[in-house]
This record gives sequence, structure tokens and C-alpha cells, in this order.
Amino acid sequence: MTEKLYYSDPFSYAFDAQIVDIASYHGKPALVLDRTAFFPEGGGQPGDEGSIEGVYVFDTRIENDDIYHVVQHTDGFAAGQHVRCEVNANKRFARMQAHSGEHVVSGIAHRLFGAENVGFHMDDTLMTVDFDKPLPKEDLAQVEREANACVYADVPVRAWFPDAETLKTLSYRSKIDGLKDVRIVTIEGVDNCACCAVHVRSTGQIGLIKILTAVSHRGDVRITLVCGVTAYEDYILKHTQTLRIADLLAAKHGETADAVEKLLEKEKNLKWQIGQKTEQMIDYIKANSVFASENAVFDLPGFNPEELKTAALALRTVCGGLCITISGDDSKGYYFAMSSDTVKATDFSKTVTSALGGSGGGRFDVVQGRLNAKKEEILRYFDTLKVN
Ligand SMILES: [Zn+2]
Repeated sequence: MTEKLYYSDPFSYAFDAQIVDIASYHGKPALVLDRTAFFPEGGGQPGDEGSIEGVYVFDTRIENDDIYHVVQHTDGFAAGQHVRCEVNANKRFARMQAHSGEHVVSGIAHRLFGAENVGFHMDDTLMTVDFDKPLPKEDLAQVEREANACVYADVPVRAWFPDAETLKTLSYRSKIDGLKDVRIVTIEGVDNCACCAVHVRSTGQIGLIKILTAVSHRGDVRITLVCGVTAYEDYILKHTQTLRIADLLAAKHGETADAVEKLLEKEKNLKWQIGQKTEQMIDYIKANSVFASENAVFDLPGFNPEELKTAALALRTVCGGLCITISGDDSKGYYFAMSSDTVKATDFSKTVTSALGGSGGGRFDVVQGRLNAKKEEILRYFDTLKVN
């Protein structure tokens, strides 16, 4: 059985060991050592990465109490060989911060609101925790506040194996009945939880604890959580974004949301103004158009599909056939809308789009779509198309 150095000292990352077996883990090359500081995946925490004699270890797994260091290759390794090993300390520390932070948050949510952690996922960017009951925003804010207070209080984090008698009377989370050698991770006054993973020494090492999002999940709540260095990196990312937004909007750093709100209000006004101008323009075109007994095509550069539709509906009274509004150019094609005061425009949808290489459709009295033809072809086509 491999000696678990990660339990005796979770902060020892470099160590010497002897190869016990050149093995394979589910078809991948793996090494088994007599002792290891590599934590194997467990308790929701990913298996450690690092190197053995410079060969990359990309995962660590445990199966039937055998610990497999999944390596790039086992070439040149032999059973009995002494090897120098090193765990990726940065990743491992960030994961310990995250996992201990999760215990703090889950313990506090349990104590304050009786919420049970029923699902936990962790990767190197964030964690998700599922609670078995909905927790409103204010409750989660309180959990977050108390979790950070627990960090400032720097409470020791202790892993221990209680004897059978103690275990019977102990109240703890993640209880599975009938299990022997239960390892308890205790954060005094905050949490007791059955857990096989490695943790920081005291809550002060967790650093910032931040709940990022909370969404309903199967009627309960799923939170995303970041801690320590991951929270710090997240802060840098968001701060950089905020500074950029503040710069772009010439706003104070704490007032970017107000500035965006103002910008959106401005955009809404501009859209309204453009709408007014478009209507005025359509009215002008209508007043200055000579009635055509057959079809009429209006080229309206810059009009978007919605404006083309409005124009087609408004201008259809100036002709006795189909009224077509187009916008675009000969190389990219044209958006179009089509309506009529005398016939059902939708009846001509297929005829028009197949003749002019486009696509489109419509409901009631207007057709919309695209035409892949030159303007001249469009004009010539509608000039000769008989609809009445
Ligand atoms: Zn745990």
C-alpha cells in the first residue's frame, strides 16, 4: 500500500519515492510508488498533476487503494527505481483553497438555513455546489459574508479519524451509514464533514470566498463559487473589464452600470428618432409618387428588413399591383418586402423568389426575404410581371 504523504503533510509537494509497479490505468501508462504526495481524485477534487523524473503526470487516481500516477510514458522506468517527484504546487494549492472554501460555505448554509449540499463539481476555473432547497439572494449574501468572516478568523482546518464511539455521537455532513474509517474534516464551530480530500491548514489560507451566480436547479439552487487565487484572478479579469468600460464611457469606476443604463436610454431615443424620420421619409415618397397601374419597386438604401416591411405596407396604395421595397447592392443581393392593395402578396412569394434567386415568405399581406439578383433584373422582372 502506498504511503499517503498528502495526508501527513498536504503542503509537501516535492518528494523522493521508489517505483513499486509499472502499471496501466484504464489503458494509460501509470506508475505506482511506495509513497506519494500526489492526491488522487476524490471527494470532488481532481487528481494532482506534476512530474516524476521530469515525465509529466497528468492525473492521479486511486482504485482498490492502489494509487496510479498517470504519466505521459513509462519508458526508461523500472520497478525498484528511486525517483524524484514533484506535484504541481500552484494547481494543488488553488484546489485546496477551493475545496476548503466549499466546506466553509456548505457548513454555514447548513447551520443558517438547513440547506444540504447535494452536488459538488470542481475544476480549475470554478466550482458548483447544489443545495437541496432554494436560497434567496439575501440568504446567499449572508452565507457569503459569514464565510469570509470565517476566513478572517483563521480557524484551523483539521482532518481526523474518529473512533467508532465518537463517530456515533458526532454530527457531520456527507454521512454514509455503515462506512468504516470515516475521515472527518473539522472547521471548529463552522463545519464537520466526511471528506477524503486535502485541505488548507486554516481558513485564513483560503483567501477570498465569492459566490458568482445562483440559479434554480431542479427546483433547488446551484451556486458557482470561486476561492483564493481563482477568486483573485476572477477579480483581475472583472476589474480590467470595469476599467475599460469606465474609460469608454468616461464614467467613474463605481458608476459604470449607471453609465451603461444612460447609454441604453440614449440608444432607445435614437431608435425612436430614426423611426420617426423613416416614417416621414415614407410619407414623402408616397406623396410624391405617381400612381402606377401595375407593380412598383422602391429602392430604399439603408433600410433594414423591418423598415422595408413598414414601407411596403405604407406604399402599396400607390400602385395597382405588387409594391416591392428593396435595400442592398448588386454584389451582396437585396433584402425585400412585398405587399399589395389589390392582390394577395403571399400568393406570389414562390414565383418571385424562384425567378430572382432568393428566399422568403410571409403571413397576411406582406412577404419578406432576400433576392440574389441585380437591381436592373429586379426592376425588369416586376415591370413585366402580370398580377391582376
Ligand atoms: Zn470535501
